[in-house]
Amino acid sequence: MNVIMLGPPGSGKGTQSVFIARKMGLTPLSTGAIFRKNIAEKTELGKLAESYIADGKLVPDEVTVNLVKDSVKGTDGVILDGFPRTVAQAEALETFLKVDKVVYLDVEFDALLKRLTGRRECRKCGAPTHISLGFTSCPQCGGELIQRADDTEEVITKRFTEYEKATSPLVEFYSKKGNLVRIEAKGSIEEITEKIFEALEK
Ligand code: AMP
Repeated sequence: MNVIMLGPPGSGKGTQSVFIARKMGLTPLSTGAIFRKNIAEKTELGKLAESYIADGKLVPDEVTVNLVKDSVKGTDGVILDGFPRTVAQAEALETFLKVDKVVYLDVEFDALLKRLTGRRECRKCGAPTHISLGFTSCPQCGGELIQRADDTEEVITKRFTEYEKATSPLVEFYSKKGNLVRIEAKGSIEEITEKIFEALEK
């Protein structure tokens, strides 16, 4: 089964992808995490992506589509976190992957800001967590927790604007195709994971 996680920045796509992937034996694939790894390793891809990400903009479609095309080769069931983010990416995806379900995480705007400013992620494995959970090191691998460079208020505002403009039309795009499940992403992480799991099992 191939699943897309859709939702605004801070809706919990990354967190839920990790849990759902483990529960269902899927391969989690986060374009943002791949970009950040490449930035840290100073690769050509990292150098290209860095200026866009730092400015809260989307990395050009062509670059991102090719990255995902390469990354899904040889996988048997993926969960895509943060891709597609534009209708052009969604149309390109159709040419190389069958999408079974699209999970749309619906969250109120106020909650998003709180989640993003308190978000931390593991320097080593990239797993996300939140200061409110009280971890002093990564709950997945014990690595050091850091704040993402694009989780400042200024960049967050730009990312919301990009989401509204480029990504939110995907809710309608996938609704029309009939494979979108809307999850009201309220409550604890575990409760939301359970809701998603139930929706995917149907
Ligand atoms: P994320 O970790 O999903 O929040 O992504 C962090 C940043 O990486 C985004 O704000 C974009 O700049 C870039 N990015 C991630 N996925 C995509 C995508 N599918 N298309 C374009 N840019 C992306």
